[in-house]
Amino acid sequence: MNNNIKRMEELVDILNQLGYEYYTLDNPSVSDAEYDRLMQELIKLEEMYPDYVSPNSPTVRVGGKVNESFKKITHELPMLSLSNVFTEEDIINFDRRIRKENIINPKYVCELKIDGLSVSLKYKKGILEYAATRGDGIVGEDITDNVKTIKTIPLKLPKPLDIEVRGEIYISKKTLNELNRERIKDGLEPFKNARNLASGSIRQLDSSVAAKRKLDVFIYHLPNPLDFGLNSHLEALNFMKDLGFVVNASNNKLVTGVSGILEYINEKTALREQLPYDIDGVVIKLNNILDQMKLGSTVKYPKWATAYKFPPEEVVTKLKDIIFTVGRTGQITPNAILEPVNVMGSTISKTTLHNEDYVLDKDIRIGDYVVIIKAGDVIPRVESVKKERRTGNEIPFKMISNCPICNHALVKKDSNYYCPNKSCPARHIESLIHFASKGAMDISGFGERIVEDMYNLGFIKEITDFYHLDKYKDELMLLEGYGEKSIENLLTEIEESKKNSLERLLFALGIRHVGLKTATIIARKFIDMKTLMQASIDDLNSIPEIGFEISKSVFEFLNDCNNIKLINDLENLGLNMKYLGKVIDNEKVKDKSFVITGTLKIKRDELKNMIETNGGKVIESVSRKTDYLVLGENPGSKYEKAKSLNIPILNEEMILEMLEK
Ligand code: NAD
Repeated sequence: MNNNIKRMEELVDILNQLGYEYYTLDNPSVSDAEYDRLMQELIKLEEMYPDYVSPNSPTVRVGGKVNESFKKITHELPMLSLSNVFTEEDIINFDRRIRKENIINPKYVCELKIDGLSVSLKYKKGILEYAATRGDGIVGEDITDNVKTIKTIPLKLPKPLDIEVRGEIYISKKTLNELNRERIKDGLEPFKNARNLASGSIRQLDSSVAAKRKLDVFIYHLPNPLDFGLNSHLEALNFMKDLGFVVNASNNKLVTGVSGILEYINEKTALREQLPYDIDGVVIKLNNILDQMKLGSTVKYPKWATAYKFPPEEVVTKLKDIIFTVGRTGQITPNAILEPVNVMGSTISKTTLHNEDYVLDKDIRIGDYVVIIKAGDVIPRVESVKKERRTGNEIPFKMISNCPICNHALVKKDSNYYCPNKSCPARHIESLIHFASKGAMDISGFGERIVEDMYNLGFIKEITDFYHLDKYKDELMLLEGYGEKSIENLLTEIEESKKNSLERLLFALGIRHVGLKTATIIARKFIDMKTLMQASIDDLNSIPEIGFEISKSVFEFLNDCNNIKLINDLENLGLNMKYLGKVIDNEKVKDKSFVITGTLKIKRDELKNMIETNGGKVIESVSRKTDYLVLGENPGSKYEKAKSLNIPILNEEMILEMLEK
């Protein structure tokens, strides 16, 4: 398969997973800038290969899914997302596309892009009937009870109108900071940012939690302005203001042409820091409603509006030194030691430089002034070097050739250097920390600090030592900082971890390239460690999701005599060596794609889970490639489409029967 098409598939998967973490879990694992970068890469590839655009692509769907715990509300008009622009050139092109439709001298309303989550408020005869999240754009979650706790949302309008308005629910920077201070005091993880906190708060099942979170709202959209005799967006904003809604009046501005937009962006960029709430850009909307209608919308966003996204914040600081650390696989990482600098509220004094290539490509030298960017909550990175500030005294980077801890000669694999000494102390501690960590053996209580302590005190030098620790129970209880209870808890957790399913052990062993997902795929295939240890590289490589690199790495690890001994010892210590999850041998479902439509007796999430555990895929929309449509009561348009494409249709009984096989 063409590499670009493969990359497209990969990007669809990555972005959908990130979208799930962001929209459904309110817990993103990458910055918005990183997400946007991947999205732009996908958009470019899809433009090159339009025939290969997946119906599951995030470019053709509004992000977000409905949490099944909420009542669902179907929007009368879809709640769309916004296209994004990042540069002046993008803005010129946006304006050009509008002028192309014979719209002369377009006027735009520029608004702040509030970093929260959108809400639809529906009033019947002037009384708030319901409030809904955007969800997937068609169906949202009923959050009426929580929305009623927001004081700036009127429950009754001055006129008995049937009307829907839309806006953004957000949380102020002050509230975020206050809540985080409390959480840190209570030993809880702080919220990552205001957007996720706002979204998490409004999507609480218990509205007393939402009430405590001091949520607020700005209203910015009237879906049916013509019904109220309004011909422009600005008129609609004023109309909504007169009804008692909070529109961001002091920051909404009517401008003309690209120059007006750019001026607004510059002005608001300077204001950003002082605002009491987070914004992530500026929204540009064509003012005239008939012109808006002329342009129309795609399935994902209106063509008459766009969002300019601020670039990630960057600051400049001096790179004082480069030091090297050794990871659990022996990988050597160069790290930048920085003149401490404040980036978006946190002080940064060191950051990873990834590997030799990263440093050489950017020509990073000791003594350089470097640009650091931190977008959202991700680890800050050195983006570039201020070469114009060089004095000539900077020291060019040189990769080390020996391990900084044990002095063993390093070996290079791909772009990375490794310390091959398996007993290198640094590598060892890291591998012990990893073994006990969450997702691996998950020995709760065994955080980084405790493993380090136990290592330095000589109690845990090898992985097997975790399981010998009970012999030292009395001695451990005498250690400063460890009470009887905490040692007992640790020992119980260690004992419990023996029961873990095989994939956790595989991941915990720290095999290069094997994360928990890969470990699960392998464990599911081979079921027990003994069979896996007899597998050849070809056996491993024959698993569709496992490439040659991973196969080789697993094979080499399991055939190394030290590792064979380690696994035998662990087995003798009583660790489970079997896969305990569900086994897939359901050829009827495996690798098949299913689309579900209509209401079923079984919960949708449950059915989806069953299909996936049996190796099938559940996708959102019907295409020629769909294998089956699962049909419930009151189906949507997917049913018509499936019929027209002759896709086999299964009722609830049929799919359940298939899953039992
Ligand atoms: P978006 O945030 O780019 O823009 C659309 C949204 O802007 C609207 O739905 C509305 O909620 C909001 N908005 C705020 N102020 C507005 C105003 N004045 N007028 C109109 N709308 C306004 O689009 P999206 O689909 O909600 O989310 C996509 C973005 O979310 C990405 O670009 C990325 O920044 C972020 N994201 C991040 C991750 C991650 O993993 N970090 C994952 C998914 C999405």
